[in-house]
This record gives sequence, C-alpha cells and structure tokens, in this order.
Amino acid sequence: MRVLVAGAGPAGLYLSYLLKKANPRCELRLVEQNPPDATFGFGVVFSEKALDFLLGDDPGTYDAITPQMEQWTDLTVVHRGTPVVIDGIGFSAIGRLKFLRLMQQRAASAGVVPEFRRRISADEVRGYDLVVAADGANSTVRGAADFGTTVTPLSNKFAWYGTTKMFPTLTQTFVENQHGHFNAHHYRHSPEMSTFVFECDAATWERAGFSRMDESATLAYAEKVFAPALGGHRLVSNKSVWRNFPNVRNTRWHAGNVVLIGDALRTAHFSIGSGTRLAMEDAIALVKALNEHPVPQALAAFEAARRPVVDKLTAAADASGNWYDRFPEHMKLAPREFAWSYIQRSGRIDPARLRKISPKFVDGQDN
Ligand SMILES: Cc1cc2nc3c(=O)[nH]c(=O)nc-3n(C[C@H](O)[C@H](O)[C@H](O)COP(=O)(O)OP(=O)(O)OC[C@H]3O[C@@H](n4cnc5c(N)ncnc54)[C@H](O)[C@@H]3O)c2cc1C
Repeated sequence: MRVLVAGAGPAGLYLSYLLKKANPRCELRLVEQNPPDATFGFGVVFSEKALDFLLGDDPGTYDAITPQMEQWTDLTVVHRGTPVVIDGIGFSAIGRLKFLRLMQQRAASAGVVPEFRRRISADEVRGYDLVVAADGANSTVRGAADFGTTVTPLSNKFAWYGTTKMFPTLTQTFVENQHGHFNAHHYRHSPEMSTFVFECDAATWERAGFSRMDESATLAYAEKVFAPALGGHRLVSNKSVWRNFPNVRNTRWHAGNVVLIGDALRTAHFSIGSGTRLAMEDAIALVKALNEHPVPQALAAFEAARRPVVDKLTAAADASGNWYDRFPEHMKLAPREFAWSYIQRSGRIDPARLRKISPKFVDGQDN
C-alpha cells in the first residue's frame, strides 16, 4: 500500500506510527512543512484520564509520555480576585514540543522517516492508495475535493504565552479593567514552565487598542492585567500573535483516496482540552479500519465508528467555546455562582454528576 500522510502534528505522527507498526511493508511518506523542532504554543492539557485511552492497545506510547506530564486533580476559577477550587476535575499537561519529539521517536521506532521542510499541495494526492490529510485546521490537502468544509471563527481573541510561574492547578483567571474583560487559562506543563493563554472579547480588544500595539506592548499589557496571578514572573512569547479560534467542520470525512483526520477534520475549542486526544483517537480508529478493510470500505468504516463520539465531543466543545465568547456577561455573577456556570458550560456535567466528582465544591468547601 502506498500512503501519503500530510502533516507531522499529533494526528499525522501517531497515524504513521500505528500504520507502519501494523504494516511494516507499507510504503509510507510523512511530509511536514516545518523543521522538526518548530511548533506553536507552549503546553497542551489532556482532560480527565489523560492518555488512559492508550493503555489497552498501546502501553508503549503511554509509558513514553505519561511520566513526562504534569498532573493535578483540582481546577481553580479566580473571579474578582477570589479563588474557587473545584475538586476532582483532573487534567494532565505536557509541552507541545516535548510531546511532538516523543511522538517523533515513537514514529522512528516503527521505521517512519518524516520528510521535513516540504509543503504538500492539494494536487499531489494522485498516485497513492491513500492520502491522509493530517495538516491541521488550515489544511491544504482538503482542497483536493469538496469535503463540505466550513470554518467559523469564534469572536474572542486570544494569544498563547508561557511563563516561569508555576501554578498549583489548572487555573482560569478572570479580570475586569477600564477597557473590559480578560481571561487567562494557565497551567504548568513542565517543572520549569507554564502555559498562559490570554483571551478577551472583541469589544475589549478594540477598546484596549491592541490593533495598534506590537507584540511587546501587548505582552506588557497582559502582564499588567494579570500581575497578581503572575506574582512578579514575566510572560514569554513564541509567535504569540492574536488569533480567533476557528471552528472547523466537514460534512464529508473522505473523498476518493483522501481522508481527513485531526484538526483538518474538526477542531474542538481548547477550553475542553481534547483536540490532541481527538487527533490521536482518529489515528487509532483509521488504522483499525485499514487493518480490517480495503481502502474505500475502510474510510467508510472509520467514519461510521468515529462520527458518534466526535459529534458528542464537538457539541461539548461548541458549548464551551460559546460560553467563553460570552464570558463578560457571566462575570456579573458572584465568584461561586460564576464557578458553577463555568463548570456546567459544556453541558456534560449536571448537578448530580458534579456532586459525585466534586463533593467539596458542591458542599461549599472550595477555598
Ligand atoms: C490556543 C490553543 C490551545 C490549545 N490547547 C490545547 C490543549 O490544551 N489540549 C489539547 O488537546 N489541544 C489543544 N489545542 C488543540 C490542539 O493543538 C490540536 O487539536 C492538535 O494539535 C491537532 O493535531 P493535528 O495533528 O490534527 O494538527 P496540528 O497540530 O495543527 O498539526 C498539523 C501539522 O501539519 C503541518 N502542515 C500544515 N499544512 C501542511 C502542508 N500543506 N504540508 C505539510 N505539512 C503541513 C503543520 O505544520 C503541522 O505540523 C489547542 C489549540 C489552540 C489554538
């Protein structure tokens, strides 16, 4: 089988590893536009049981990554300077670059040799039995056919920073100043570094004058807004430009010999910490289908198996993304009510379930 995988992010690397491991004779090209150590962002979080989904079928990858992760069991919501701890909402985190390096090593162990610094175009898909578009939210390969793609940006603006401040739990800090409303998602992703996603609504962004500020002025502004949370530590930038989160959806998951996986198939708002896991689970499901069926049927089987899970998660991600798009409104609530609104935002946790997961929070023992 001749396979082209476009993009060596989490989806493309893991797909290549699994496919080559299961079919050593498969002729697989993994092509990445960037050099091996170039990436955006700082850390990524994994919600709930982190990489437990790998334990059954791929304990080797689980063992390679899990010891490198920061883990914690509670989440903190800070509003009007008051921290409210929600117990039992666990997350794990790892630096994105470290994660990609580990995945590159896993792929190399199966004999995958990625071709870096080469960009695939949509007209290169001929001549392969299978082309996997794992080239992210702005996928080029999607241009090879009509996948019924829609890209809908959320209205909030965000910029992705790091900091040397170590936070005890994943923390959501909300702040109001003379220009409007700000939020930071912050968590440590290594023993030395934390991730700090700085976010505000569109009206605040205009009033603060960010369109006229360069990167260092923006960083200084963010440091000022979040000075109490940063406790004297600086923010660190890495291509930390303002972005709007794109909600990518495709009505068709495959066309001819091309199949979409990961963010090329659909994005899930980062506030639910599931995009990377979804990308890896796509890879698992696609390789399983390819091991059981010839290509055309495998692509249909992949979609049939995966669509219900993905639809459920994207619905939760959409609800969460929409809650963030209206967070200034929610900030009218007092800190504890605000924390309740926050934790119920994706529609996945009702009061009965929350009582089981977070008894201390529900009983009011939250700081
Ligand atoms: C601010 C922010 C925070 C996030 N936080 C989290 C988080 O905490 N937890 C989480 O799980 N997820 C998070 N995500 C989402 C997560 O980053 C993605 O879901 C995940 O990276 C998807 O993996 P992927 O391999 O599909 O795509 P990507 O990671 O985007 O990888 C695609 C790769 O394809 C390459 N590429 C693109 N076009 C071409 C081409 N034409 N030819 C060759 N190569 C190409 C790119 O260079 C890239 O390396 C966050 C996203 C954002 C924006």
